[in-house]
Amino acid sequence: MAASETCAFDLIDAEYVREVEPGEMVRISRSGIESIRFAPEKPHQYCIFEHVYFSRPDSVVFGRPVNESRERLGRLLAQEHPAVADLVTPVPDSGVPAAIGYAAESGIPFRMGLIRNHYIGRTFIEPEQAIRDFGVKLKLNPVRRMLEGKRVVLVDDSIVRGTTSRKIVRLMREAGATEVHVRISCPPTISPCYYGVDTPRRDELIGANNSVEQIRQFLGADSLGYLSLKSMRAAVEDTEGKFCTSCYTGSYPTELVQLEVEAHRES
Ligand code: SF4
Repeated sequence: MAASETCAFDLIDAEYVREVEPGEMVRISRSGIESIRFAPEKPHQYCIFEHVYFSRPDSVVFGRPVNESRERLGRLLAQEHPAVADLVTPVPDSGVPAAIGYAAESGIPFRMGLIRNHYIGRTFIEPEQAIRDFGVKLKLNPVRRMLEGKRVVLVDDSIVRGTTSRKIVRLMREAGATEVHVRISCPPTISPCYYGVDTPRRDELIGANNSVEQIRQFLGADSLGYLSLKSMRAAVEDTEGKFCTSCYTGSYPTELVQLEVEAHRES
């Protein structure tokens, strides 16, 4: 069995053996399993966003448990951007492990102040703004009794356009939170992904066109803190630069000629 995430193996009690390497093809047939290398080996550039957001926390990705990475992201976030607050609440589901890490590191109690409707998909990959708007309303419901009169640290894994985060901050205030301190477990997303992750164009990325203070004002948050690039790499123990971080740096590991084509298409 081959799968994009190891959590699929848990369902059928299959044993995780290893990842299919870049430039490798694995043929499974009646005569067995065969590894064929069709391209030369190149330096690894694993997608760090898999550990920040995309993969399930119960998966092992690039040989590393995603849940551990996310909790570590949250711990480092608490060290870099502490807050005086009554509770830490995640934007569920992907913000949960980082919020657990933040709460553990800061000593501020972890609470599920937002409840997610699991029948609604991820909003940032919905193609139309109108569908995204509708999705946010259906997706999250604040727990009023938990939030009323409380100073809240709201932990999320990323801010893409900012429109969803803004609505969530508003939801928290409407539910009675007196302060909302937004903490993001990665640096600002400043550049599109050209390697398969469906991020928006650069001009739609709030982090590409605004300072952290401007983003804070747009969100209506009392404070805003993003994890640094250095700490994000530390969370996945990337000491050798094996992870791609291009959407946070704007510096890509492949030739620019392709990017120029894309940039041209976007304009
Ligand atoms: S640009 Fe970002 S999302 Fe795309 S592969 Fe690199 S780290 Fe992953």
